[in-house]
Amino acid sequence: MPKPRVVVVGSSNMDLVCQVPRLPRPGETVGGGSFVTVCGGKGANQAVAAARAGAAVRFLTRLGADAHGQTLRDALRQEGIAVHPEQPDPETPTGTALILVDAQGENAIAVAPGANDRLTADDLHQHACDFDDAGVALFQMEVPAETIAAGLALARDRGVTTVLNFAPAVQARGMIGPGVSLLVVNETEAGQLTGLDRGTGVGVLLDALLGLGVGGAVLTLGGRGAVFAFGRQRGEVAGFAVDPVDTTGAGDTFCGALCAELARGAAPADAVRYACAAGALATTALGAQSATPPDSATRRLLDGSA
Ligand code: ADP
Repeated sequence: MPKPRVVVVGSSNMDLVCQVPRLPRPGETVGGGSFVTVCGGKGANQAVAAARAGAAVRFLTRLGADAHGQTLRDALRQEGIAVHPEQPDPETPTGTALILVDAQGENAIAVAPGANDRLTADDLHQHACDFDDAGVALFQMEVPAETIAAGLALARDRGVTTVLNFAPAVQARGMIGPGVSLLVVNETEAGQLTGLDRGTGVGVLLDALLGLGVGGAVLTLGGRGAVFAFGRQRGEVAGFAVDPVDTTGAGDTFCGALCAELARGAAPADAVRYACAAGALATTALGAQSATPPDSATRRLLDGSA
């Protein structure tokens, strides 16, 4: 059977992570740290999650003509992901996140989006054929809003299901409407998007998300799983019982897995269940991409044999 096809439009970052005994104050230097580089960016994390879930993934992203860009491109290729455009951006560095983590797990993060800010509508039009035979197109909010709007239009023109993960929640929200088949948010993002308080019930939140004019909505609830509404069909999936060690990237794994399963032709409720299982597994190991599970592990958890 041919692999389900997923197009991901989004960001790639190199995360430079320094673990320090405590976070420095402004002007202060704290020694005794240890350092790792980790491939990240919500777009790349979700592309990897979709690929490990069994999809053939095309990833539209901008990388700089620097060592980080090359490392990210090589890592994505190793996952079997086709990365477009193939030419690196000669003018801007690859997106970078500087992350300090202290002994208690508290962090301070500075992000320089770099080349991610230069992924344009034109880039997407030049690779429009990537959308032609895709089952699902997946977007997040770490590239320019007008690029996302152009990608949604390209997908919709071709009858491709569009999934928008409105993360991070930003001011620009003009693209949220009928062009989005499915909106995916966590509770914080849902609150920011709808203006509703933290204590608002999930049913009311779902109604408010549908009120934005999208075709359907999924609200992820961390360890409690997820609730969803596709047209008139509503449902919930309880969280899978796991022993979480690091919840970083659970939402990204959820989105990539959801799209792979939708592209495979699964019913929406089954795709949410699959995504919940993958998201739960992503919390059982450190990191984002490093913790995203293969399809076989997700199916074992679904079958209750993990
Ligand atoms: P984000 O990472 O965007 O904040 P969530 O925390 O809602 O998103 O997690 C996304 C999905 O990952 C959840 O819907 C759930 O299926 C799964 N998940 C997250 N945390 C846990 C957990 N502690 N136990 C089981 N599943 C989890």
